[in-house]
Amino acid sequence: MDKVLLVTGASRGIGAATALLAAQRGYAVAVNYHRNQAAAEAVVAAIHAGGGRAVAIAANVADEIDVQRLFAETELALGPLSALVNNAGVLEPQLRLDEMSVARWQRILATNVIGPLLCCREAVKRLSTRHGGTGGAIVNVSSAAARLGSGGEYVDYAASKGALDTLTIGLAKEVAAEGIRVNAVRPGFIYTDMHADGGEPGRVDRVKRAVPLQRGGQPQEVAEAILWLLSDAASFTTGSFIDVAGGR
Ligand code: NAP
Repeated sequence: MDKVLLVTGASRGIGAATALLAAQRGYAVAVNYHRNQAAAEAVVAAIHAGGGRAVAIAANVADEIDVQRLFAETELALGPLSALVNNAGVLEPQLRLDEMSVARWQRILATNVIGPLLCCREAVKRLSTRHGGTGGAIVNVSSAAARLGSGGEYVDYAASKGALDTLTIGLAKEVAAEGIRVNAVRPGFIYTDMHADGGEPGRVDRVKRAVPLQRGGQPQEVAEAILWLLSDAASFTTGSFIDVAGGR
């Protein structure tokens, strides 16, 4: 039977590229989205056109009930879960910290930290040999911002990714003996819609000269690293990070 992969935030950008590549590699894919149903359905249609299995499921990863339903619907549609990619993430317009509101921090931490915590909890309940599962893999989509801090742009977003890195290290140790590997990728400047949410759609082209490889990255280049970490080729790799940031 196909391995079943749930990708959060898979309607666009890195998540969509990951869902499409995973389907090419033989996974049945749950394509989670928040609001953009048409984009999620287009990803599912592309997977079906290639002969793969996929389903689009709406859920806010920051909402406990939504996340429980997301995992239940994934398994109902596709079969027992094998792997999770915690990709859904948000940032907000560039600001100094002394201009930021608590409401903004709560939105960012809810999606970028509580979301992965909730999804990891549901995944561990299903994958862990302690709970009768057969093991599996989790990949968290962090950011180079976790290392670099995003000063003057969005230190709150960077801090949320720092939390995700720490979650990756801790959970990897916690569930290693239960058959689950937990790793993360840290993308750099990647061409997606996210930069528009930060108030600057052309951001990657503005900053790309600061990247040693002298360009921005494509979502597919991040997906390749995610798929490797999910695969059996990475069988001795857990609690690890792949920076997909062009050397930045
Ligand atoms: P994107 O193009 O803006 O796509 C974001 C995705 O997340 C969409 O599918 C969106 O769904 C979904 N999403 C947002 N909030 C959600 C929620 N509460 N519940 C469920 N889904 C939610 O973003 P991206 O650039 O591909 O980013 C993907 C991940 O990579 C994020 O974690 C981001 O922090 C990380 N990253 C990106 C870059 C970069 O340069 N792009 C760099 C480093 C790290 P809808 O379509 O329904 O809104």
